[in-house]
Amino acid sequence: MTEVTQDSDKGSLISRRKELLGPAYRLFYDNPVHLVKGEGVWLIDADGNRYLDMYNNVPHVGHCHPHVVRALQKQIETLNTHTRYLHDNVLDYAERLTAKFPNELNVAMFSCTGSEANELAMRIARAHTGGTGIIVCEFSYHGNTHANYQISTEDIPEDEIPDFVHSVPAPDTYRGEHRGDDAGEQYAAYIAAAIDELQNRGVKPAAFVVDTIISSSGIVSPPPGYLKKAADMIHAVGGLFVADEVQPGFGRMGNNFWGYEIDEFIPDIVTMGKPMGNGHPLAATVTQTAIVERFSAKGSYFNTFGGNPVSCAAGLAVLDVIENENLQQNALDVGQHLIDGLTDLAARHECIGDIRGSGLFLAVDFVSDRETRQPATELASRVVNGLRERGILTGSIGPHDNILKLRPPMVFSTENADYFLEIVDEVLASAEMAGVM
Ligand code: PMP
Repeated sequence: MTEVTQDSDKGSLISRRKELLGPAYRLFYDNPVHLVKGEGVWLIDADGNRYLDMYNNVPHVGHCHPHVVRALQKQIETLNTHTRYLHDNVLDYAERLTAKFPNELNVAMFSCTGSEANELAMRIARAHTGGTGIIVCEFSYHGNTHANYQISTEDIPEDEIPDFVHSVPAPDTYRGEHRGDDAGEQYAAYIAAAIDELQNRGVKPAAFVVDTIISSSGIVSPPPGYLKKAADMIHAVGGLFVADEVQPGFGRMGNNFWGYEIDEFIPDIVTMGKPMGNGHPLAATVTQTAIVERFSAKGSYFNTFGGNPVSCAAGLAVLDVIENENLQQNALDVGQHLIDGLTDLAARHECIGDIRGSGLFLAVDFVSDRETRQPATELASRVVNGLRERGILTGSIGPHDNILKLRPPMVFSTENADYFLEIVDEVLASAEMAGVM
């Protein structure tokens, strides 16, 4: 594999960006990528280099999938309005989407981003319960609006966390405090303590909001029973369970269509976004008629762009492709192939401490010592940048930024997986030779 060539304009794009977008924006990689085209699992840069995309879950059914592109084109040249007029698309989509849930979850409210979907979920939960308290996991991320910032413990400094927010340890069975068979129960006990803590402050709990694959905390697949126990606990004090499916949803986990389905229970509200429109901004808050009643008694809901005919055409087309191309099964099969290949690599590379996740949402936890599970942050950065230089796009996450996040478009094939496994083997060998930990 030859390394990718260098783009001559890049320096000027980087400085224009800094000037025009300001200092809050960040780029991926030591050597940023300038992309001009996408196709399936491939991204192409300004010099014509091809990159295998193993990071982006937004182009869920593949970059520029022709079925989605055609559906968007057809609707945008016909009509685009909003949800204050009658239109079939929003109803057809709501019907197809709610059919992916148990009968109880029968209402879909549309927006454009995961942040809006979570913000709406919190407003509905507060109106329904009369409480304000929100419980979240440590190092969680739920969006970029102010209300989401306040519950995104990955971002908000400790001293800015409001009184109505309380965080609990992520149920991490690899590096966390509880690792045994009873981990689900042990971690759920923190939720009971968080409820007590909120109540001691005079705050009535409104909801437990959880990304069901607990991605920002390091793709921590919740131990069996954890989510259901958490739901029982929050229900016992009149609060709601909000499943944030922005990342795990739409079949990505392979075994289930939604992340929360690893346990048998029904969430009160489910939020989703990123993959819904394959890059077209589309998000939703799915709940039950009874739960949204108090919220609707206070006023109407309107989102100018959310659920418009074009967005819903994209949403419908994405569901078509997931179903017609059997992508949930593909995620399960190719994901298992990746896990098997990574497990073989772990026999040769001591730095692979843990491989977790399922379907096409996997984590490789790099450690400098398998006994102590000491995070290998520098190595993770070296791997991410090394893969980028060899034409594979990934990213790193977690409180120690030592976890390789693998979350490719769902059309990722066994052949793509083998290519990745070959290159990551090379990158790890070169990092080990250089003594990077
Ligand atoms: N929830 C989770 C779990 C997310 O990962 C994200 C985005 N990274 C959001 C919510 C917010 O979504 P958006 O960026 O579309 O507002």
